[in-house]
Amino acid sequence: MRDHFHTAKTALQERFGDYLKAKNYKVDHRLKDVNKLYLLEKRYDLFLLDRDCTLHGYHAAAREPAFELTLEHLKGKSDLVSNSSYDEVRRIRDIFGDLMPVSMMVRMEASDHPILLRFVGGKLNAMEYHDDDGSFLHRTAELVGPDERLLSPVIHKFKKPNPEILTAVIQANVLEGRVRHDPRVLMVGDRYLTDIVAGNLADVDTALVRPFRPLTDKLELIAVRYALDLPLGTVMRNIHALSGSSYALPY
Ligand SMILES: [Mg+2]
Repeated sequence: MRDHFHTAKTALQERFGDYLKAKNYKVDHRLKDVNKLYLLEKRYDLFLLDRDCTLHGYHAAAREPAFELTLEHLKGKSDLVSNSSYDEVRRIRDIFGDLMPVSMMVRMEASDHPILLRFVGGKLNAMEYHDDDGSFLHRTAELVGPDERLLSPVIHKFKKPNPEILTAVIQANVLEGRVRHDPRVLMVGDRYLTDIVAGNLADVDTALVRPFRPLTDKLELIAVRYALDLPLGTVMRNIHALSGSSYALPY
């Protein structure tokens, strides 16, 4: 439990200035669930998807049958961006990896640059990200051992709302030829303080989905959602909307 509170506290401290700006809570689309993405399918080249309480319940062991057709339909233009641990991300790959790449970003002792750990077609790539020119150096052979064991200690995890992980994943999609240069991107998630703020900091459109099975969250995550994320996010989103921007009506 302490770990989740520590993560929330660290994010608040590191991103305090960003969390105070209403524009970072801009929501372009409010969706009942991910099935409503079919309405937006033609408007975006790439859908960056959150996992927990967006695609299925918290740390669920299988895909949600009700969303299967939509995710199949978005195959080729979706990407899962995770804040979870490396072991959990491997589990996510086992569940969703045939539908979309699964990515997380870390700092490792062996490099001065962030490393994008990215499962494509289920296979792990360790890509050193150079944000000055948007290039990647493939370091899988040096950084990943047998059984997908990481050969250099992870000293930091880049988590949403840090926009760098979104920027790197978008760039990876462009370089892999999955999307066109300068793609239209939508960040899709159930939380303001991670997903929506990350999308706005990365300067992409955002879709807020109503949380899927929110009570499957861990107790502390339920507390953070209803005591902080939802009330603060709703107020800030409305302040931003009242400041003259368009207002996203729920689908
Ligand atoms: Mg979530």
